[in-house]
Amino acid sequence: MPYAPKVGDPLSALDTPSMIVDLPLMESNIAKLFSSLLPTGILIRPHLKTTKSAVLARKLVAAGATGGCVAKLSEAEVMCKLGFSDLLITCEIVGAAKVQRLVELWSEFKDVRIVVDSVEGAGAIDEALKRSGVQEGSIKTLLDLDVGLHRTGVQPGEPARELARYVAGLRHLELIGVQGYEGHLQHVHDRAERKASCLASMATLTQTADILRRDGHTITVVTTGGTGTAEFCVTVPGITEVQPGSFLFMDTDYRNAVGSFYGNSLSILATVISKQGPKCITIDAGLKALTTDSGLAECKTLGYTYGVLGDEHGSLAWTEGPDLRVGDRVEMLPSHIDPTVNLHDFYYAYRDGVVEEIWKVDSRGMVQ
Ligand code: PLP
Ligand code: MN
Repeated sequence: MPYAPKVGDPLSALDTPSMIVDLPLMESNIAKLFSSLLPTGILIRPHLKTTKSAVLARKLVAAGATGGCVAKLSEAEVMCKLGFSDLLITCEIVGAAKVQRLVELWSEFKDVRIVVDSVEGAGAIDEALKRSGVQEGSIKTLLDLDVGLHRTGVQPGEPARELARYVAGLRHLELIGVQGYEGHLQHVHDRAERKASCLASMATLTQTADILRRDGHTITVVTTGGTGTAEFCVTVPGITEVQPGSFLFMDTDYRNAVGSFYGNSLSILATVISKQGPKCITIDAGLKALTTDSGLAECKTLGYTYGVLGDEHGSLAWTEGPDLRVGDRVEMLPSHIDPTVNLHDFYYAYRDGVVEEIWKVDSRGMVQ
């Protein structure tokens, strides 16, 4: 019989490393987010770059979400094929191949929204749509505004007004709003500082939206926010939509920064495969199972310290507490959730120690 874990299996039957989700904790994270943010009247368009799963996208819609965000065009292609097409692609779409893919996607899925931050980018998309022979309709487009992250986005003020004027003049792009993502503030530890900086970014965003309206543009969408800032964004008049993603699962970096309002519901189940010292063992989870860009993963059981031993291996060392032995299993909490999820094919979601649902990481590897 080939290895095929199934619903109803105990967690102990899973091979390792496996990505497992504490279902009650994830459900509680979803309930907390929607019960705290929805009453403000704001729309919640969760960022699906975290889960990369159509099943989870649908669970979020059932909880009150309005569509979702994806980072990349190729993620949008996957989600649309799986019947989930109310999407905002939050990264700029640039380059002939990608623009052509967008034209093809949009010809079938008209809900898909895009962002632009340059004349070159917006112009190339309009040209491609023209060449494709589109007769009517235009792609819903948001101006991506730099509110301090300095990653993408046109600068506020004159540059934003000029680009808006240009986009409004394009036949196949319909300017409907502004996106301004304050990614640099998500992990600011001091809550008061995070709030103050976020409100300053939100002022830039809403003021720009107002300036564009005075210039005659119809700006109905003003979208922003992540797990660390959404609670502040929703208090700002003029913000219409927030895009949190990590709150479902969290990670240790986020927990260290913003606290434990949302619980760490995802872990990587690993096996002790070798003993290397009296208080040091080796597990079967290394760089291919847990990312390290935001620091090292943590063992869910306190007192065991993780170290990377290469692609396939990691170490756990301790000074006190019970010894770990070959064959024992441990749960590791990722330090950065989005790229860690992208290393795995499936989620095994459990309740009371039993696998209750299995979800595919549908858009795994979709970096284009
Ligand atoms: N919006 C944009 C544009 C993002 O890039 C991200 C994450 O990188 C998010 C929203 C979601 O943020 P988080 O996962 O911190 O909730
Ligand atoms: Mn991330």
